[in-house]
Amino acid sequence: MSAKKHTPIHYLVTVVLRIAQSFLGASIWILIGAIGYIIFKMDNPPVNFIIGLPMLVIGMGGVLNSVWSVVMSVFDPRYNRGVCIFCNR
Ligand SMILES: [Zn+2]
Repeated sequence: MSAKKHTPIHYLVTVVLRIAQSFLGASIWILIGAIGYIIFKMDNPPVNFIIGLPMLVIGMGGVLNSVWSVVMSVFDPRYNRGVCIFCNR
């Protein structure tokens, strides 16, 4: 019953939390990306390139980052332990 052991329960809780967090985060990134895409699609240079394109790129990057953090938490035990809420009190 060592408090420092990263148990399978920890692992599962961490994965579920990561998925929930990424889902929330990704929806914000998708919104930013979608707004960026709409601005980018407007035919109003240079605004579409200065504002629309960076928002689109940042949004896509954020989504990829969210997906990646879930993949990492599932497949990389060290990453999972590193973000574990029980082990990092
Ligand atoms: Zn743990």
